Amino acid sequence: MATALHQWIDGKKAEGTGQKVGDIYNPATGEVQATVRYASAKDTRRAIEAALKALPGWSATTPIMRARVLFKFKALVEQHMDELATLVGREHGKVLSDARGSVTRGLEVVEFACGIPQLLKGEFTENVGTNVDSYSMRQPLGVVAGITPFNFPAMVPMWMFPMALACGNTFVLKPSEKVPSASLRIAELLKEAGVPDGVFNVVIGDKEAVDVLLTDLDVQAVSFVGSTPIAEYVYRTGTAHCKRVQALGGAKNHMIVMPDADLEQAADALMGAGYGSAGERCMAVSVAVAVGDKVGDALRDRLCPRVEGLKIGPYNDPDAEMGPLVTKEHLAKVAGYIDKGVAERAKLVVDGRGFKLQGYEKGYFLGGSLFDGVTPAMTIYKEEIFGPVLSMVRVADYEAALGLVNGHEFGNGTAIFTRDGDAARDFQTRARIGMVGVNVPIPVPVAYHSFGGWKRSLFGDHHMHGPEGVRFYTRLKTVTSRWPSGIRKGAEYVMPLMK
Ligand code: NAD
Repeated sequence: MATALHQWIDGKKAEGTGQKVGDIYNPATGEVQATVRYASAKDTRRAIEAALKALPGWSATTPIMRARVLFKFKALVEQHMDELATLVGREHGKVLSDARGSVTRGLEVVEFACGIPQLLKGEFTENVGTNVDSYSMRQPLGVVAGITPFNFPAMVPMWMFPMALACGNTFVLKPSEKVPSASLRIAELLKEAGVPDGVFNVVIGDKEAVDVLLTDLDVQAVSFVGSTPIAEYVYRTGTAHCKRVQALGGAKNHMIVMPDADLEQAADALMGAGYGSAGERCMAVSVAVAVGDKVGDALRDRLCPRVEGLKIGPYNDPDAEMGPLVTKEHLAKVAGYIDKGVAERAKLVVDGRGFKLQGYEKGYFLGGSLFDGVTPAMTIYKEEIFGPVLSMVRVADYEAALGLVNGHEFGNGTAIFTRDGDAARDFQTRARIGMVGVNVPIPVPVAYHSFGGWKRSLFGDHHMHGPEGVRFYTRLKTVTSRWPSGIRKGAEYVMPLMK
């Protein structure tokens, strides 16, 4: 029997009143495990109104008190780690160890946000003029919204709301309608931690809800993570309605393997980064760039048996290294890319299309797949596949490899594997990419740095969390003050000069 999920508005469960009822699947079995009536435009407006009502109280709560609430929330997430990881795994399909890791990475942002009293400290200058002092401070924006993708049901929302709440804003989250349960549980835990009603709201729905968040003049800023076409739409629509927007999009992350690299280490890295979470990570490596045929052959020989031997299973199989894809439609899309690669004459070295798991025949499983001989003209090179499909491109030298990285429309992450410090340094300087790894395949910045790509992987100016998160969720105010005893008599008609 499928569970009926709900919206979370003003600190309590609420029924959606949208036309559509969405199904939430268990991707390992293909069964509908929950349903939810989507949020209508009216429901979304109600969530914004709840956030508006809660704003004066929350923004006036001192930063140290907001931090204390987040400390309590951190402890609750730790206490409920397995439960949250299970919600993530059951709806997304990723294996539990991976799901736990993703919740932990989200929790690191909460830990960073607990330092908000320090992070909000402004600047002060005494005597910018005689008896005149100047100081600047960062103040909350107001009601802000987050719109998140299916692939990290807990972590990506946790890139956003801990920073937004710590800075004194109130929040409306629109999680992916494919994986909403972790967000609803997070809402309950925030309430238990002491977050007042209305400060954090969850609307589950589709474009109808998103469009309200993008156009409603009471929403000051929108954080988005998802595919590039929607990121661009969110950026254009949100900014056209005078909002601050950070919209993170898709990716095609290249990992360059230089001739001097430790090839065992590089092959290990490609397995984890290419096939972990079934390739459904925006920081997954989807293109291995082998510099020289010798490297290409050696990598292929190492990868082939390992891709064929990947242990695939449902999220709760402790031996599984990779789970199913999120939906039937996504499975068909990824398999379609494999067909396309074959049609465009890439060499399909390992074909995952026929994979079936006994007892889970209706699950959305796909075996790991590996292409060699991929060229930049091919569709499987140009487009994001977002599945367990690694493409190997062979190039003659480092400059050609760098040219590929810089020539691609996406600019989320990249890595170089080498023992040559010169090459590594040149790469980190010249790569037109937001996050670069040197012998690190998935260079996801820690919470106290900021996360974000370049080119068509990010629309807007601010990366997420870390110092950029504080800047995004606050605006700067500068005060210049002189007390009466220091004020000279008589009006001055020239531009004020500080003496
Ligand atoms: P998506 O773009 O389909 O959906 C993201 C969000 O937008 C969801 O909440 C969805 O309901 C909403 N949405 C979808 N279509 C919409 C429309 N037409 N109008 C308004 N809203 C709409 O993305 P997804 O399939 O859930 O997630 C996978 C994508 O996310 C991949 O492209 C991946 O690279 C990207 N991603 C990027 C990052 C990053 O940090 N750059 C991180 C994770 C995922």
